[in-house]
Amino acid sequence: MPTLNETHDPALQSWLETANLPDTDFPIQNLPFGVFRVAGTEEHFRGGVAIGDSIVDLHALSETGLLSGPAHEAAQAGALPELNALMALGPRAWSALRLALSRLLRRGAPEASAVRACLVTQVDAEYRLPCRIHDFTDFYTSIHHATAVGSLFRPDNPLLPNYKWVPIGYHGRASSIGVSGQAFHRPVGQTKAPDSDTPALTPCRRLDYELEMGVFIGPGNPLGTPVPIGDAEDHVFGICLLNDWSARDIQAWESQPLGPFLAKSFASTVSPWVVTLEALAPWRRPFRRPAVDPQPLPYLSSPANSAEGAFDIRLEVLLQTEAMRSRGEAPVSLSRSNFRDSYWTVAQLVTHHSVNGCNLQPGDLMGSGTQSGPEPEAGGSILELTRGGKQPISLPNGETRTFLEDGDTVILRGHCEGGDAVPIGFGEVRGTVLPAHSPV
Ligand code: CA
Repeated sequence: MPTLNETHDPALQSWLETANLPDTDFPIQNLPFGVFRVAGTEEHFRGGVAIGDSIVDLHALSETGLLSGPAHEAAQAGALPELNALMALGPRAWSALRLALSRLLRRGAPEASAVRACLVTQVDAEYRLPCRIHDFTDFYTSIHHATAVGSLFRPDNPLLPNYKWVPIGYHGRASSIGVSGQAFHRPVGQTKAPDSDTPALTPCRRLDYELEMGVFIGPGNPLGTPVPIGDAEDHVFGICLLNDWSARDIQAWESQPLGPFLAKSFASTVSPWVVTLEALAPWRRPFRRPAVDPQPLPYLSSPANSAEGAFDIRLEVLLQTEAMRSRGEAPVSLSRSNFRDSYWTVAQLVTHHSVNGCNLQPGDLMGSGTQSGPEPEAGGSILELTRGGKQPISLPNGETRTFLEDGDTVILRGHCEGGDAVPIGFGEVRGTVLPAHSPV
């Protein structure tokens, strides 16, 4: 587990003044990774690190001669158009690059002018996925979400008996994952109205978002070799925001008896920036279960996981409808929750995923599952906020929603604050619903 070091020093400031502004997501203490190029050009995509309103171009930086040793090796890997090679290098390499970047970006650094020549401003950039995602696994780690959704179908018995023992997950679809800015057509699929005997092929009528965290895997494990929980976080490159869009009506008809299929595989959207676990070190929190709940089986438990397995990340969902956009109205907040309330930790997900010998690979993505808070208004999906579509949400401009409409843009944000540490953020992930294609 990364510990605090000089890169977390709250007194550190950058010679790039936008990194010192109180509301920036990207102070010198954050330094998240992404893949970008200058928008509207045919440049190669390459890795970069966010700082203030800008991006350090890792390809340019790796050619300056300012880096050496493991930091240079990591920057060269990060200069590629996909970060899988950097992810495969492991925590020592990521940490060496982070320390070198922190020193180069500090106020007073003699290399400032040479590094400034490697900056691209974020407003001029376009992004793509941080890496090639071989496999996408989606978990279900919020007991508040599981209980709220379960109660829609089983009011007397919302939580199934395995929930408190096994991190529930399923294998998702990697090919349809896109980066923030993704726009996708409302999916078409088989749905069955309650008053009908037969299904029909229709556009989804109950389209939803899911507020999730995405976990990118770093070094993998050989097939047949489980990852012990004490080593689990060495296999985690970092965390991003993830919107795991869901077609609730398609899901309700197709998911019996197996799990989600076409209701989930039409689109998932991630934020461009991946925040490393080292950057998140100041926001580690104890992992605790209510005393009446079963404690995790021994393979899912360790002193370190109990002491600081959880992450205090404040999450928010915002909506901007097409009407709001056309009138220049800002997005409105729909709900807030915190990743700290997750029933399972990131380390437990990695260990559980591999306990049967399954091999994880650099760049694999694991979704946390929808992160809902304990209160009904903290639901991380519109299904929860509208009680299964029964209680419409009223928006400030007079519009209402039970599920998402065409033209809706959903924005997820996340940030960490509190205590003595300098606040950091995840940027945002946004995605827009386009009208359905005509059913085939
Ligand atoms: Ca999900």
